[in-house]
Amino acid sequence: MAVPFPFSAIVAQDEMKQAILATAVDPGIGGVLVLGDRGTGKSTAVRALAALLPRMRARVGCPYSCDPAAPAAGCDICHKESLANAGEKRRSHLIPVPVIDLPLGATEDRVVGALDLERALSQGVKAFEPGLLARANRGFLYVDEVNLLEDHLVDLLIDVASSGENLVERDGLSLRHPARFVLVGSGNPEEGELRPQLLDRFGLSVEVRTPEDLATRVEVVRRRDAYEQDPVAFARTWLKEDARIRRRIVAARAQLSRVLISDSVRDSAARLCMALGTDGLRGDLTLIRAARAAAALDGDAAVDRSHLRRVAASALRHRLRRNPLDDTGSSARVQRVVAEQLAD
Ligand SMILES: [Zn+2]
Repeated sequence: MAVPFPFSAIVAQDEMKQAILATAVDPGIGGVLVLGDRGTGKSTAVRALAALLPRMRARVGCPYSCDPAAPAAGCDICHKESLANAGEKRRSHLIPVPVIDLPLGATEDRVVGALDLERALSQGVKAFEPGLLARANRGFLYVDEVNLLEDHLVDLLIDVASSGENLVERDGLSLRHPARFVLVGSGNPEEGELRPQLLDRFGLSVEVRTPEDLATRVEVVRRRDAYEQDPVAFARTWLKEDARIRRRIVAARAQLSRVLISDSVRDSAARLCMALGTDGLRGDLTLIRAARAAAALDGDAAVDRSHLRRVAASALRHRLRRNPLDDTGSSARVQRVVAEQLAD
């Protein structure tokens, strides 16, 4: 397998890194929408992060890589087997956290899986060919140029990602299987409008720009070049840094449910969303969850306004109503209101 670019070697792109780290700590934050220019390595951070995460224990032979420690959350096959062989140790192995690419033009069968009616009728079995959603279970699903994907497919992906389950129905047959993954979609707003209903359903959105200062550009190219010359040697020089990030994620996952959120922080979050005029409550919820993950990553016992400030733009910028009288970008609007509302 090719050696992925080390996460810790990614220059700048702090917002992107922060968002991906947050979803690795709390996948319930929802997907990440990466907006930005072509050729800025939008998928690099996802692959890099998945590669540094602790490998996961999975049932041998299960097409969904079910967790042997959580049979209730597993697929039907694993669930039944665990009931039949209670107390027996399941055969399992350690596998890397999957990052599955969903190519544009993939058929619905390829994505959700295909039920084979003929086999089902002739052999009396449920013949199911798992699709990309099955392979993405417990990992990441990456869609490049999500704005060019057919609407119904995007809706389907978002539904599955939020329910954690894929339901396939065909000719009266139906099958469901676990599909818990973090959806990461990239989009270039200049190449196709993103529907507001779609935007709102991504947990976080980040902007990735071509670096504009000379030193950053030079450093990006220097590291990329070194990596391409000798990926193994390059990755070795970043091993320690990557291991440090891995320990932070593991500690943050363990700490997450104990991170405190005071009423005054909840107040500040709600005030911020009201001042920005975000629709519904999804923004408030995501803001709180992302701030909690940020606090856990910092090793802090409680969320404070500095965590809110740090995650506000990625949790809220894609939920703003368009204001025809204000043509400053959403990011600038969020920054301005954050400065007004969350001053120390
Ligand atoms: Zn299974």
